[in-house]
Amino acid sequence: MAQIDPNKESQLLRDEFLSSLEPHLSEIAAACRFCFDEDRSPASLKDLLFLVHRLAGSAAVFNYHEISMALKKIEAVLLGFKARYEAAPEEADVSFFEQAKPRLKVLFDELRAAADRKKLVLSDALQQVSNEPSLKETRASKLVYLVEDDPIQARELATQVGYFGYTVSVFNLIDQLRTAVNEKLPAVILMDMAFPEDEEGGARIVHELRASLGKVFEVVPVIFISASDDIHTRLMAVRAGGQAYFTKPVDVGSLIDALDQLTVHEKQAPYRVLIVEDSITQAGLYSSMLKHYAVETQIISDPLKVMKAIVEFNPDLILLDMYMPECNGNELAQVIRQNETYVSIPIVFLSAETDKDKQLEAMSAGGDDFLSKPIKATHLIKAVTSRVERYRKLRALMMNDSLTGLLNHTSIKVRLTQELNRSRRQENGVLSYVMLDIDHFKNINDSYGHATGDRVLKSLARFLQQRLRRSDVIGRYGGEEFAIILPDTPLEQAYALMQELNHGFSKVHHIAGKQEFSVTFSAGVAGYPNFMEASELSDAADMALYQAKNSGRNRVMTG
Ligand code: GH3
Ligand code: MG
Ligand code: MG
Ligand code: MG
Repeated sequence: MAQIDPNKESQLLRDEFLSSLEPHLSEIAAACRFCFDEDRSPASLKDLLFLVHRLAGSAAVFNYHEISMALKKIEAVLLGFKARYEAAPEEADVSFFEQAKPRLKVLFDELRAAADRKKLVLSDALQQVSNEPSLKETRASKLVYLVEDDPIQARELATQVGYFGYTVSVFNLIDQLRTAVNEKLPAVILMDMAFPEDEEGGARIVHELRASLGKVFEVVPVIFISASDDIHTRLMAVRAGGQAYFTKPVDVGSLIDALDQLTVHEKQAPYRVLIVEDSITQAGLYSSMLKHYAVETQIISDPLKVMKAIVEFNPDLILLDMYMPECNGNELAQVIRQNETYVSIPIVFLSAETDKDKQLEAMSAGGDDFLSKPIKATHLIKAVTSRVERYRKLRALMMNDSLTGLLNHTSIKVRLTQELNRSRRQENGVLSYVMLDIDHFKNINDSYGHATGDRVLKSLARFLQQRLRRSDVIGRYGGEEFAIILPDTPLEQAYALMQELNHGFSKVHHIAGKQEFSVTFSAGVAGYPNFMEASELSDAADMALYQAKNSGRNRVMTG
């Protein structure tokens, strides 16, 4: 059994806190908007306070003191506000709420600044108070400035980083960086340490920019690259606020990991809630409450259609009315739970039922919670949010491969069936399926060690993720074998794409100690509708892969 390193574990928990910060702040922003702009009731104020208090507590636990302090200030203002409200509720009109806003706005800005310093893009979450949430993809804007005096090294590294979907601008002179930064800020700066005119030029220019640009520059992470590994140079990098430090030759896989961590703040997909309720009016009401918090909903008024809706809408939670004409919620929950795939999906009952025994009976049928009608928006969103969060975490653990984060063997197969069904429903639907296997991977392990082998697997996973579309599905099929589903992609296009990836990946440099090596893969591609069933498609891709291996490896073949 692997030993758990306590430092590593606490770092993991800290990371987990940081990654859940954005949804928590969105939740607070939404609760704030609801309380101050709409509801203006003691109950919604209490809900808001609870959320702020809870997050302030966990921020403190994980040593994010600045964020915690900012939240505690907000909490203090809200508490004062609540006291005035309770002292004279009759005076709590709209203007009473409006008056508190400017002070809160200042404090929310402070919170945002504190969070930004943790290099998180949270401003969007906080701006949701006034704007509709936007789910724009951030992947396109990955501009990296590389400052390196040696033009050959610079071009080489820029090309390598470019393979992973980053746009790299190279500057051989420090002066060029000064000009560029004033025109446009990059997502990250990759900074060489030593320059011909100044051994510590890298650190110096970063200090200088920080002093001259102030806050604007603070949000740009800097990664130092240097030929020297001595403590003196590393200290200089730390003092200049460097977020990471790589020695030359740079291992591109690890560098990409660092770049991803500093730049990818993927917005979570909106929560999806399926509402099963025979009364259209009530369903509409819940739906609009949830939509207000940017939750996606689908309404089913005929309970017999629920299974189809679950498969197609793929909800994170099901809100189930207790009493419906066709069948009751209780029975329906049991039917849903009969299906292996949906044993863990949260089911929340909604009913005017006040009889505790009946409520308990419903829960034992597989419900997770019972909400009494009429329900308040804040209660509904709270019940939904906490369960969806837990469910998504659980599902990620069950579905993803722990080394690469890609879908695991079982999940990719399930997805293939789902995507094929989707293609079948479309007129002239097409889909391609790829099986991919690294060439002579055993040799890599044998020559450089298992850990290096693992790094190669991760870098291939990252490479595929960066190069493929959002809608493409990537899985780790087993050991060094990957599977890719390319929806809406005809065979010829998939073949061309895989050739490009094959070519690109073979040019990535991998590093083990001082040794540099490259890795190739072979791939087999098969398409729907040439092959109609998942098993046929998978066999055909496998066969094509086998042929690619037999014809000399490092190539793509179609089945
Ligand atoms: P071929 O070109 O024919 O595919 O040759 P190969 O060496 O890649 O294929 P083979 O199936 O003989 O060996 C696969 C190796 O992959 C053996 C196994 O030890 C290694 N492997 C499987 N999973 C992992 C992993 O998670 N990490 C590492 N480092 N190695 C792994
Ligand atoms: Mg240099
Ligand atoms: Mg192999
Ligand atoms: Mg293999």
